[in-house]
Amino acid sequence: MPSAVTQEIVLQGIPVSPGIGIGPVHVVARGFSAPEVYEIREEDVPAEKERFRAALEETKGQLDELQQRLKSISGEQESEIFEAHLMVLEDRAMLDRVAEAIAERRQNAEFAFYAVMQHFLEAMRRVPDPYLRERTTDLEDICQRVLRNFRAEEAPRHIAPDGQHIMVAYDMTPSDTVAINRRHVLGFATEVGSVNSHTAILARSLGLPAIVGLEDAVLDVRTLAPAILDGYSGRLILYPSPETLDRYREIQARKEKVRLDLEAQRDAATATTDGRTITLSSNIEFLDELGMVLNSGAKGVGLYRTEFLLLNGEEMPGELEQADTYTRLAKALAPHPVIIRTLDAGGDKLPVEPLTEPEPNPFLGWRGIRVSLDRPGMFKEQLRGILRASAHGKLAVMFPLVSGIGEIRRAKDYLKECMDELSKEGVPFDERLETGVMIEVPSAAVIADLIAPEVDFFSIGTNDLIQYTVAVDRVNHHVAELYRPTHPAVVRLIKKTVDAANDAGIWTGVCGEMAGDIRLTPLLLGLGVEELSVGPHQVPGVRRAIRALSHAECAAMADEAVRTPLSADIMKSTLSLAQKYYPELLD
Ligand code: PEP
Ligand code: MG
Repeated sequence: MPSAVTQEIVLQGIPVSPGIGIGPVHVVARGFSAPEVYEIREEDVPAEKERFRAALEETKGQLDELQQRLKSISGEQESEIFEAHLMVLEDRAMLDRVAEAIAERRQNAEFAFYAVMQHFLEAMRRVPDPYLRERTTDLEDICQRVLRNFRAEEAPRHIAPDGQHIMVAYDMTPSDTVAINRRHVLGFATEVGSVNSHTAILARSLGLPAIVGLEDAVLDVRTLAPAILDGYSGRLILYPSPETLDRYREIQARKEKVRLDLEAQRDAATATTDGRTITLSSNIEFLDELGMVLNSGAKGVGLYRTEFLLLNGEEMPGELEQADTYTRLAKALAPHPVIIRTLDAGGDKLPVEPLTEPEPNPFLGWRGIRVSLDRPGMFKEQLRGILRASAHGKLAVMFPLVSGIGEIRRAKDYLKECMDELSKEGVPFDERLETGVMIEVPSAAVIADLIAPEVDFFSIGTNDLIQYTVAVDRVNHHVAELYRPTHPAVVRLIKKTVDAANDAGIWTGVCGEMAGDIRLTPLLLGLGVEELSVGPHQVPGVRRAIRALSHAECAAMADEAVRTPLSADIMKSTLSLAQKYYPELLD
């Protein structure tokens, strides 16, 4: 460990995925991938500095050559661009910092150089001046050139890095999160992001501790710094003292005990103390998670986010490939149902196709059922895939981001068309395949009574329902404070939806993140929700919560809640029941 820093540093962010990670930090900056990092021995410091000098010299030689060539083709002026590049390589501040990182932090030269350059790059990316911001590309270019000029075989590598680390990044996209090597990454912390982003949802699904909103972390945190990532409280503790480490090991042990106790109840019925049965199912994004879903004891899949099929390629897989995937799910979960949500690309998820002009407000744009209805060929392939798989288990289909009845009718017409085609082709499918809609746009909740006769079930997507109801972008950390699941308007819309479903004799589930938040289980049960679909890691906690609660008591609390003006007070009411019945799960 570097000797220069021993003081414990606590950085406070927003917790988005519970768990504790203990290990060295690895800072991942934007632009291009980091070279490997490892510690060098004290006696190798001069050799490492020499490697750095050699890489710089080689780069300068190449730039000189390029400059000459450009001069002969387009004259003096154009070739000045390389002048600027050369100046970067001679920048005193940069050279001193790299030398310091090699000597004091004992980082290998290429990583030390990379980290220092990333520091400059990040600082430049934040400059309001557009001209300076543009220059980041030049800097990236030069950085990559130098990195390529390091000779790996000369590297005196003596201390192998421990593969496991805590990742620190400016931001993570859902695809970055999925690409994480779970054996090596103990958790991650980012500067931006929010609890309800798909990145955070994925972290919870994967059981990876994560925090967001750690301002300037990429600039302040040093790679290889020993750290604790606390996904419960949102803290990243650098250079933890021995006492802090002991405390965290204790917390880890206590949490593990709670986890084992919960696991022992895997097969217990999910009924309240006064006998109301709640279907507890799991959300799933990838087939990789299937094992976790089955282990959790979830009774089916309440939401399969099929847009994650796009991660493997640019386009949705074809009908037969999709049918294969859905069949695997249907068979694995049988006799329980699997609800397949049709493509919901857009927003903060992958786009289904590059748009000719970027959307100013992707969450209000080409997303969900809108895309499917505009691309009938692609939509029908998905519907036919679902229908084919429906012959092998219990499947249901649901449509995302529905804002009115016209969309539902059109979607159902396509479904009927696919059924007719498959019948003619002699392909078996479930003719009574249940069809549902996500209630996640306020307009749909407001007319839930008109929608209910058209479908077999509702699944409330609270992540979007909240963002659209209170006009707070679910991934914008500047307004995260206003994103309140217990906002009275949200509570009333849920109630309105459940009541409309009850009147029409259909059921209502919740598959947004509210469903997995055990502070809110009393409220959702009280409002009359019959199904909760949560991340696989949240199933055991929610099961315990359901089993501990009395439905009558929850209903009385929810009755009050719909008449309560402040979200904080509604939160207090639901939390007080949670604290009364399962305090051990809340700390
Ligand atoms: C939701 O909006 O609550 C939901 C479950 O869908 P997604 O998070 O995929 O938008
Ligand atoms: Mg949604």
